Amino acid sequence: MTYLKMVLFALMVALETVIDWIRTFIRRWIVDTCVDKIYSISVVVGSGECNAKCRHCGGRFLRPGALSGVQGTIKGLESAIILCKQYGGWAISLTSSGEPLMSPDAVTETLREIDRLKRMGYGMAFVNLFTNGFLLTDQRIREHYLPLWKSLGLTAVAISIHDVDYARNRECYNVADEVAIPTLAEMVGAVKDAGLVPRITLLLHRGYCDNPVDYQRNLDALRDLGVYMVTSWAMCKPNGEWNQYSPSRWNLFRIRFFLWANCPRVFNQIWGGGVYNYHGLSARLTTYVSEHKPTNNFIRQLVVFQDGTVAYSWFQEGNFCLKG
Ligand code: SF4
Repeated sequence: MTYLKMVLFALMVALETVIDWIRTFIRRWIVDTCVDKIYSISVVVGSGECNAKCRHCGGRFLRPGALSGVQGTIKGLESAIILCKQYGGWAISLTSSGEPLMSPDAVTETLREIDRLKRMGYGMAFVNLFTNGFLLTDQRIREHYLPLWKSLGLTAVAISIHDVDYARNRECYNVADEVAIPTLAEMVGAVKDAGLVPRITLLLHRGYCDNPVDYQRNLDALRDLGVYMVTSWAMCKPNGEWNQYSPSRWNLFRIRFFLWANCPRVFNQIWGGGVYNYHGLSARLTTYVSEHKPTNNFIRQLVVFQDGTVAYSWFQEGNFCLKG
């Protein structure tokens, strides 16, 4: 029975792929569509300094443009938010070319600007901060910054992990023995204590969480920790190509099949993947945000870089909607 279901799922995936090819082909030749929707904004903040040394680090490509640890990303933000809002977007993600919690004043300045725009009528429903979480239990972060950021409109903190298992996660971050990393329970507790929503980015990483058994084990453990929003994508090169850190295509297919066969689907994402209800936990399987396809009639994410450039994607030359 499971085998038959898997064949059916494979046929559906193949059909979806063929439809996507046909749609892309038609759009390439028929110029009757423009951008209808911009879903969200990513803002690069902080100095680019990081307390981890991941072998797979993609942040290093962005570091040449990093600001100081106190200067928020302000230039370009107003245009990006107004544009995204007018095209129906609803979320802002604060990220960094390093670890944003190492530049808390820059995060504060950026959030102040987002709050100012909100007061002008350009508020976004969700403002998320992406972090490796190591500093979430630091006294100053916990007692001063997290409550301050909440008062400036931050809604959720998304902690990136490679596995709920402490040792496996630590191994991926490749930190020196003397670097203290709190447990995931402590990180989640700090976020909850500040009245913010904890989210987890569970990376699908070859040799770590890269198959349905480990994926399900992680979801169960996260639900036990009181985390109800988990997003996953396969690690890959910044341009979206597979590399040595990516799970095998077969294992990724099996993870997709596990969600499809066992969990009610909440909604699809136009760029691929979807959101599923895993026993009350929202499990989102998505793709790495990288290049923008010119044949798409949507922008998945506007990116605000620290020099004020607003771009249609992360890693493509010339893909700008604002550049000084
Ligand atoms: S935590 Fe992020 S920025 Fe820091 S080394 Fe790892 S991938 Fe790079």
